Amino acid sequence: RADISKSDPEIASLFAKESHRLNEGLELIASENVASPAVLAALSSVLSNKYAEGYPGRRYYGGCEFNDQIEQIAIDRVKKLYGAEHANVQPHSGAQANQAVFLAFLQPGDTFLGMSLSHGGHLTHGSPVNISGMYYKAESYGVDSNGFIDYAEVAKKAQECKPKLIIAGASAYARSIDFAKFRKIADEVGALFLVDMAHIAGLVAGGQHLSPVPFADFVTTTTHKTLRGPRGGVILCKEKYAKAIDKAIFPGLQGGPLMHVIGAKAVAFGEALQPSFRNYAEQIVINARVLAETLLSHSISIVSGGTDNHLILIDLKESPLSGKDAEERLAKINITVNKNSVPNDPRKPMVTSGIRIGTPAITTRGLVAEDMKVLGEAIAFALKNDDSLIQRAKEMIDSLCKKYPLYSDGLQHKGY
Ligand code: PLP
Repeated sequence: RADISKSDPEIASLFAKESHRLNEGLELIASENVASPAVLAALSSVLSNKYAEGYPGRRYYGGCEFNDQIEQIAIDRVKKLYGAEHANVQPHSGAQANQAVFLAFLQPGDTFLGMSLSHGGHLTHGSPVNISGMYYKAESYGVDSNGFIDYAEVAKKAQECKPKLIIAGASAYARSIDFAKFRKIADEVGALFLVDMAHIAGLVAGGQHLSPVPFADFVTTTTHKTLRGPRGGVILCKEKYAKAIDKAIFPGLQGGPLMHVIGAKAVAFGEALQPSFRNYAEQIVINARVLAETLLSHSISIVSGGTDNHLILIDLKESPLSGKDAEERLAKINITVNKNSVPNDPRKPMVTSGIRIGTPAITTRGLVAEDMKVLGEAIAFALKNDDSLIQRAKEMIDSLCKKYPLYSDGLQHKGY
């Protein structure tokens, strides 16, 4: 293996700094994780060199025999993981997976219904600055005053706008989603039903969230969040939609698939099929729940009052600290988070009144429930707007980082 520090010291030193940053702090960004050494090794494999436009057995380039086998293994593993009829493992990202469903089944100008970005939905579910909101007529639903999806409003909106497609799934929603209710609403108005399970894919694989697969026509996901694979996307669908979905990805949206990423997806799906992945998913949820309880015990408000999944949305609407201030204060104690709008946020999107935190990466690192109590207290100290507590909070985080070194012995902690 090449030593980049010799061939390109400028870049190598930045890689080293990023490794140091990850080790010296706690990554609480809800959409991030720590991929296994095997996934990272697959990403830097010779598959990066290969053009393989097309699908296994039907390529536009020669020399694809081994790439065919690798892509087929990735497909078979992800189908087994989720009990899906068909899988496309080529989307370069979650955004492209979603776009493929639009391209395959909607015409420009068609109406669809998704969760509003300001209430926790994703950019690709109809934001006016995204292609989904530019080329299609996006209608949206949100959460009720308690922070839970308002299914009565979803049904009412669907009756009013008669969407061709309904999307469930979110980027900043801490509660379980009732896919059966969405399916019923979609059936009542004759809409197709897409679930974007990007955030909860690992929880679904590990049996910690209801699977959308039996309910949805299409399920899209990223592979790098709770699922802990390489950065990328996947589409699962019923067999009857397989041809249209595959055509939308290639040649509709993409050229050559990223075969090294597909190799790494296969490795990650193999890991998620191990029984230990269930323990991992369970620990993610336990950690989020204990962290939420600790924050609440320190009088920190949380949207919806808690969490069912990997994510907590701290509500700073009543606080003098904005989301931006809180992000900066947490950075001072080496906690990385992102500011996030909360429902009915009075502050602007670049300032916000929320902090989104998630437990997937720290759970991979090995932190367990008792550590969540220390972490929650450190977060509470940092948000108290009292500089004297910052130093104490930083020491608490330092001790957690030392207790759980990243990639120690090249292995994941706890066997998961
Ligand atoms: N869908 C959801 C629900 C997401 O949260 C995200 C990313 O944050 C995406 C799609 C987009 O994924 P990507 O960043 O890979 O395009």
